[in-house]
Amino acid sequence: MFGVGKARGDCVICTDDRQLGLLPWGQSWGTYSQLRRLEAPLLLRNAERDLVEISYTTKRQRCFLILNPLGNILWGSTTFLDDAAIVTIKKLGGIRAIAVSHPHELFGYAKWAVTFQCPVYIHERDKNLVVHNTEFIETWDGEELALCSQIKLIRLGGHYDGGAILHWTNNGLDQDGKGVILCADMLQVGEDGQTVSSMRSYHNFIPISESDVQRIIWKLLSVEYERLYASGNIRDLPVNAKVLTNLSLEKYACVIHIPEDEKEKIRDLVEQRLHLYQ
Ligand SMILES: [Zn+2]
Repeated sequence: MFGVGKARGDCVICTDDRQLGLLPWGQSWGTYSQLRRLEAPLLLRNAERDLVEISYTTKRQRCFLILNPLGNILWGSTTFLDDAAIVTIKKLGGIRAIAVSHPHELFGYAKWAVTFQCPVYIHERDKNLVVHNTEFIETWDGEELALCSQIKLIRLGGHYDGGAILHWTNNGLDQDGKGVILCADMLQVGEDGQTVSSMRSYHNFIPISESDVQRIIWKLLSVEYERLYASGNIRDLPVNAKVLTNLSLEKYACVIHIPEDEKEKIRDLVEQRLHLYQ
């Protein structure tokens, strides 16, 4: 974490069970000048037409710049942008808004909001986890937020209650006339490149609930998309993303399903066990 202004003493995102947890010697804080010395050069490449992937050469962290005539949208954020990247982004039209999926993606947003003079959107339900609150933060509520006619945020929930994905269509002018989903790690593509899953914690192997899986399936059924770009493991679905995603999530729902008549019994057992740890 670095910033313009002062961040909170303890980072509620790092100490949450969804994250890796703290190092044995506790939390450490860095400055942007330290990062500038340490970071490898950034890579900017076209993932597809009008979609620029910004990634480190040495880290599994990336964000995307969607080029749009009504103003470019940065999906996710990045701890680091070198001078050359800032110049390139400005030449591409700058950034009209930064859209953040959930608190794990809140890297360096305060600095880039100042640099590009743009708002940072995050869902109201995760507002309490915004460690560095600045005047540029704009929360949104409800299930969807249209950023323009071609780009909207959809609250998915599960990994984070307010966690959102971005749905992008190009009015039929994109490669196949179908949409694209950018999902950070609200959804992740498995090692086989065909399976999609969602976890409360990928680091600590904590799944999401059955009701969350069911809700995500219903939400995605009404969204048209052919390609999906996740983050973290840097695996994407270049084709047939909607079918692969929903098939995977249907399997997930079957595996974790608890029959209605078992639920009460299981709740009692959990209650009993919890007393053992007190
Ligand atoms: Zn995450």
